[in-house]
Amino acid sequence: GVKSYQFMLRTKNPCGKVPNRLYLVMDDLADEFGIGTLRLTTRQTFQLHGILKKDLKTVMSSIIRNMGSTLGACGDLNRNVLAPAAPFVRKDYLFAQATAENIAMLLTPQSGFYYDMWVDGEKFMSAEPPEVVKARNDNSHGTNFPDSAEPIYGTQFLPRKFKIAVTVPGDNSVDILTNDIGVVVVSDADGEPQGFNIYVGGGMGRTHRVETTFPRLGDPLGYVPKQDILYAIKAIVVTQRENGRRDERRYSRMKYLINEWGIDKFRSVVEEYYGKKFEPFKELPEWEFKSYLGWHDQGDGAMFCGLHVDSGRIGGKMKKTLREIIERYNLNVRITPNQNLILCDIRRTWRRPITTALAQAGLLHPRYVDPLNITAMACPAFPLCPLAITEAERGIPDILKRVRAVFDKVGLKYNESVVIRITGCPNGCARPYMAELGFVGDGPNSYQIWLGGAPNQTRLAKTFMNKVKIHDLEKVVEPLFYNWKRKRVQGESFGDFTTRLGFEKLQEIVEKWEGP
Ligand code: SF4
Repeated sequence: GVKSYQFMLRTKNPCGKVPNRLYLVMDDLADEFGIGTLRLTTRQTFQLHGILKKDLKTVMSSIIRNMGSTLGACGDLNRNVLAPAAPFVRKDYLFAQATAENIAMLLTPQSGFYYDMWVDGEKFMSAEPPEVVKARNDNSHGTNFPDSAEPIYGTQFLPRKFKIAVTVPGDNSVDILTNDIGVVVVSDADGEPQGFNIYVGGGMGRTHRVETTFPRLGDPLGYVPKQDILYAIKAIVVTQRENGRRDERRYSRMKYLINEWGIDKFRSVVEEYYGKKFEPFKELPEWEFKSYLGWHDQGDGAMFCGLHVDSGRIGGKMKKTLREIIERYNLNVRITPNQNLILCDIRRTWRRPITTALAQAGLLHPRYVDPLNITAMACPAFPLCPLAITEAERGIPDILKRVRAVFDKVGLKYNESVVIRITGCPNGCARPYMAELGFVGDGPNSYQIWLGGAPNQTRLAKTFMNKVKIHDLEKVVEPLFYNWKRKRVQGESFGDFTTRLGFEKLQEIVEKWEGP
């Protein structure tokens, strides 16, 4: 039928940066060629669903003409590079964002194939800074770099999609440990960026009932001085390109290579390409989840306002109101890795009228959204994703309402928080394996339940139960939340509590449950 000719399209927006004009174009395209809604993704991009094949070229070229290089994210390539979305005018944030943009450019295929395909060979590449061009083409430092038109990808592309995030110490809005490469700006005592800590080998995707596939957290690889970062990234990518498994797609992510080799062997192979030794990892403060919701000072006199968007879906009244505000005040926006939207560069005198407009549309944090929704995420799943086994985005509003009802029943307060994430299949697009309470579709209306992630996304959850029918949700979460409420130590998060008690004990609690 017609359905099989529909396309889903993702943009590429390093750091989630969306210039004013691009937002307005995407808003128009969603109405004209899509399903009338915009979707913000967990990788800080837009997704447009429901574009017909005949319209694809028009849509692609509109985006490219309005944005330069806003294309990618399909096939076996580097996915959108994440960085904190907050528009703080602070040396470390700006440096993290600039580094994310440089890495994105470094890893953009040079063949021009994609651009040729969509805009008849016209080039709309944004200008690349000289350090990116140099790092791409300079193969003098290491060994064994290929000599080809694609200095990084060589004659064969990467075996599998590749995910990179850059952040500053303490800001884990990017889920840093879930990426193939995680890069952290390290500054001196005066706040001047000096270099980067690098993590490698994170990744979420797995396959049900195949124990040799698993989610994994990134390992510390080492520290590099700031001028070496692009060379280090290139060396890691080439190591994966040359050694990542190509025989079985399911094992082709870099996490499996690192798991097989161990981090020490991996590091020494990367060092051959890099041409230097990595320095020891620098000590970092604790990670925190940052949502940036509400009003904040940017640091340059202007303000920004973070808005929660359920499952990243912007439609109806919200879409209309946002468009009016963004158009009227000529605002740039940013997409966060939690699928939220930040309105940027707001003059102080605009704060009041913008607040009024948001309030009239019911969009003002925190009153319009349950605190459980703030940290929750769901992937698109049905009807948009062909891999879906069961519901996620369409199911999450009801699931969160039911969890809220359980909270009320066991006496948990309104503002207590649990990180809940739901995906329609084990691929894990909404990073459910980092949740304190994760649901991973494993059959029609049924989910695996994962427990034990941390509120700041630094610990992997584990499978607690399989094949839990969604109508049995309360039978599992009510005893867990009841016991958390009563047996937690001071300030203990749900994830810490379930980890401390252990699954054997928790399973016993669930099995014997007869109500509070
Ligand atoms: Fe599709 Fe699975 Fe990703 Fe959800 S997690 S969007 S169902 S591939």
